[in-house]
Amino acid sequence: MYPVRESIRQILSELPEGVKLVAVSKFHPNEYIEAAYQEGQRVFGESREQELAKKVVSLPQDIEWHFIGHLQTNKVKYIVPYISMIEAVDSLKLLKEINKQAEKCNRDVDVLLELHLAKEETKSGFDLDECRALLESGEWRQLTHVHIRGLMMMASFVDDEKQIREEMMQASDFFDEVKEKYFHDDPLFCERSWGMSHDYQIAIECHSTMVRIGTSIFGPRVY
Ligand SMILES: *Cc1c(COP(=O)(O)O)cnc(C)c1O
Repeated sequence: MYPVRESIRQILSELPEGVKLVAVSKFHPNEYIEAAYQEGQRVFGESREQELAKKVVSLPQDIEWHFIGHLQTNKVKYIVPYISMIEAVDSLKLLKEINKQAEKCNRDVDVLLELHLAKEETKSGFDLDECRALLESGEWRQLTHVHIRGLMMMASFVDDEKQIREEMMQASDFFDEVKEKYFHDDPLFCERSWGMSHDYQIAIECHSTMVRIGTSIFGPRVY
């Protein structure tokens, strides 16, 4: 078994106060999650609905699950009953569906809006103008069961630190812009989710409040 306990202990000791760890456990077995849990970790990230559903019923109930992958509208109803945060909301349609299903379950769901700033075509998310347009429309204010808690992004998967830093700072500046314009009276709009195994140290310097780390805790994923 991968030395999960040692790895997570090391990472937790490095994170400054105010930066929360989402342990990305996708494709890893329950025993790995339990090992991290024994080190006190309670927030885990998954990206596939069926895998998550299985884990939720067989692992401790006080785990906070974050859905970090691309979520299809027709899958929302399956995860809304137990999800703590949906990190990668990339359309108004998805936001509305989360609200609708949350209302049905009589609960509130926290979400982040996903930005697309990477140069890669494959990644999803809003570009900055799309995100501005969504917030400007004000429709989200009527969605009383879904709470926008901040922004999420993935930087380009490159070795060039300068590029990663530029993208993350762009996200951070955009956070400041929308905080001021739409959320200045909402202290709960405070999360900046960027940083993965290979770039979380840069992310922390770029004002991240939430790092999503998988490989550096659990080792390589076995697909
Ligand atoms: C898988 C994944 C991560 C974790 O990636 P690692 O490189 O294993 O740390 C973080 N964020 C998202 C959105 C992911 O899909």
